Amino acid sequence: MDTYEKIIGLAKRRGFLWNSFELYGGTAGFYDYGPLGATMKRRIEDIWRDLYVIGEGFYEIETPTIGIEPIFVASGHVHGFSDPMTVCSGCDFAFRADHLIEGIVEVPDTLSAPEIKQLIDEHGIKCPQCGGIGTFGEVFDFNLMFRTTVGPGTQRVGYLRPETAQGMFINFDRLFRFYREKIPFGVTQIGKAYRNEISPRQGVIRLREFTQAEAEIFINPRDKNHPKFSTVSNTVLRCYPASHQQNDSGSDDAGNDHAYGVVELIAGDAVDRGIIAHEFLAYHLVLTNIFLIRAGIDPARLRFRQHQPDEMAHYAADCWDAEVLTDRFGWVELVGIADRTDYDLSSHAEHSKRDLSVVLEYETPEQVERIVVKPDMSMIGPLYKEKAGKVLAALKNLKEEDLKGDEIDIKVDGDEIWIPHDMVEYETVTEEVRGEDVIPHVIEPSFGIDRIIYAVLEHSFAEELVGNETRSVLRLPAEVAPVQVAVLPLLTREELIDPAIKIVDMLRKSGIFVSYDDAGTIGRRYRRNDEIGTPFSVTIDYDTLDDDTVTIRDRDSMAQIRVPTVELAEKVHAMMREQI
Ligand code: AMP
Repeated sequence: MDTYEKIIGLAKRRGFLWNSFELYGGTAGFYDYGPLGATMKRRIEDIWRDLYVIGEGFYEIETPTIGIEPIFVASGHVHGFSDPMTVCSGCDFAFRADHLIEGIVEVPDTLSAPEIKQLIDEHGIKCPQCGGIGTFGEVFDFNLMFRTTVGPGTQRVGYLRPETAQGMFINFDRLFRFYREKIPFGVTQIGKAYRNEISPRQGVIRLREFTQAEAEIFINPRDKNHPKFSTVSNTVLRCYPASHQQNDSGSDDAGNDHAYGVVELIAGDAVDRGIIAHEFLAYHLVLTNIFLIRAGIDPARLRFRQHQPDEMAHYAADCWDAEVLTDRFGWVELVGIADRTDYDLSSHAEHSKRDLSVVLEYETPEQVERIVVKPDMSMIGPLYKEKAGKVLAALKNLKEEDLKGDEIDIKVDGDEIWIPHDMVEYETVTEEVRGEDVIPHVIEPSFGIDRIIYAVLEHSFAEELVGNETRSVLRLPAEVAPVQVAVLPLLTREELIDPAIKIVDMLRKSGIFVSYDDAGTIGRRYRRNDEIGTPFSVTIDYDTLDDDTVTIRDRDSMAQIRVPTVELAEKVHAMMREQI
């Protein structure tokens, strides 16, 4: 059994994750969160909220999970959000065509569908399902969005959103007003996203319905310095810059570090040396680092990998993925952090025909000279008759340099017209200009919550020998563990059960999530709680009846302390805080 099998086995058995629709045979790409999984998911989302919503002041919004077609035409998803697909004629199974040749040939992201097909044929790729050779059909682009119709009939096409981001972009003008017309500002959304993945084989890593937590931060394109960067600039990040990937020959046989592998960079230096494009992006790499470690990711198995130029979206200025090392899948992307420039807002402005630019006020207004053109209508009117209005408009739009030639050259309805100078007067006026129109740039950290949950489970999982027994333990951070305290009467006797129930009530009233368990030996109950990551167990025994004290057992060290019952809630809160 590899680690993935162990984790998924544990997750299913203990109520973290279940295959969806199991009663009806199930379908790949969907998972249910059971009682422990759903609780853990909320806790991880709350840490995210703590950092982004409370910590950064980025309000959270909530927009529909279905969107109408124009949104996704503007975002590029209708025409460009696809993966190459091919179907085997032997078994009718559909495959990600690029995955079929992965590992056999180097597959750059830029290969076209016919090129992939050619490689499949050249290498005589066998169908992983039925073993057929030469059975793959044409490779074509399969759009990953789930399509639907809105309302009865088929008139209005809609899509399940493939990311939460668009709901924030299309509300930009309202948000801008909400934030009192000042940039930078940030907004967040946590919610479901849907992608009709062709053949999701990677269990919880590649889902068809998953949860994203995204922040969109709208910034001044001329100033990408972050106001709080100095507070994080000393943070060390494990980075894998694009230039290193191009020169990386892989680790040597002995597994030693290689010259162009992952390097530890100080965030501030990485910006100064031009490795990370600017402070705003670096700040969000640091925040991501803080979040992932706080959620329970092992820092030694975390890196920030920069996108290579050919892998980055054409509009992006710089993009880094937070990736974690997993036992079965190698490095897996958990978070993408990109400078998306003005792509999203410009595209929505163009498609919606709404102006999404903002006025950036100068610190002090500038005096600017401008030409005011004054055409002589008593001459222009009779000469150009019905065209006179258009001639006038064209003349008023002229710039100083247009007035320099012997005659003034304008275009009306596609025709060129020369106007003699004596028909036009002009003067120079000085005007006060308070700012300029710009389309804000967007910094987007985009988190995949489900992958984070799997990675946290894997990184916190350990098996260790205690006496001559193996215990499985999830070393989850206290603020992530679904159950925070297990209350365990030493024996299933009424005189111990009664005070135990009172302690359960007391802890619950103080806001702690408690489970009560009196089935089986105390050792087995400790193990059951270790396996689901419960950080503390409280045991009620016969001494409790004498001196009103209980035992708190720490999951990781298995050390025990005795505390008076009256101090228990406070003590547990203190121990949880200490861990955080
Ligand atoms: P993307 O918009 O593709 O950069 O995705 C943002 C984040 O969403 C990724 O870093 C993943 O963590 C997560 N994600 C993307 N696709 C999937 C998927 N099919 N299943 C689960 N998580 C996903």
